[in-house]
Amino acid sequence: MPELPDVETVARMLRRTVAGRRITGVRVLTPPTVRSPHPRRFIRQLTGHTVRHVDRRGKYLLIRLSRPLTLVVHLRMTGDFEVVPHAAPVHPHTRVILQFGRRDLRFIDQRRFGHMDLVPSEAESGLVGHLGVEPLDPSFTMKRWKALLDGRRGSIKSVLLRQDLIAGIGNIYADEILWQARVHPARSVHWLRPAEVARLHLIIRGVLRRAIASLSRYGRPIGRFLEVRGEPDAPCPRCGRPIITARVAGRTTYFCSTCQR
Ligand SMILES: [Zn+2]
Repeated sequence: MPELPDVETVARMLRRTVAGRRITGVRVLTPPTVRSPHPRRFIRQLTGHTVRHVDRRGKYLLIRLSRPLTLVVHLRMTGDFEVVPHAAPVHPHTRVILQFGRRDLRFIDQRRFGHMDLVPSEAESGLVGHLGVEPLDPSFTMKRWKALLDGRRGSIKSVLLRQDLIAGIGNIYADEILWQARVHPARSVHWLRPAEVARLHLIIRGVLRRAIASLSRYGRPIGRFLEVRGEPDAPCPRCGRPIITARVAGRTTYFCSTCQR
């Protein structure tokens, strides 16, 4: 399931391949993927316009067009983009095709939970305005992180997953961050020690940055915990004890009960 590093990697790929290029044709193969406007209008509004820039906000992709319109895309569980020659055979899970001359940008989505909205750029906030701070933005300072945790109840894992507090972290990276920081996922935010709060701030940024770097270099994230997370009875890469699975913040959570306190 794509999280901030995966979506950022897609945004970078789109910047390299379609930014500055004109959309010469649009096909909607699975109409429900386009939430708004109506697919006919979606096709009419997109055709002939140039991709100005591609941004990311949390787990959303913002494809900014010359008009000014923004195509807001959420990959959800299995959504992905591929750039292929226009003549290439169409994969059965292809939902939407944006044609750029002799190349296509194709939205592939096996589970069909991914969606797109084409909105006037000034209306973008209706879709992404609820999102909290970007963890890789300079505005995510230690002071901001402390303020975000201040007076809050609930587990640290639930806070990391709250998109309206901090945008882009999902179940997998929350587990990686907490393992790296040696903090138990069910620990109440209220009882975190100042050293742990500081460590988490550093590690949130470090984990996400390294994941983006390894995704662009190797096509997969490299994380010590990430590589064993989800494997039954896998040993903790730090202490060798078996990794525990439990339900925390309503999600299947992997952690080491020896290293994470
Ligand atoms: Zn351990």
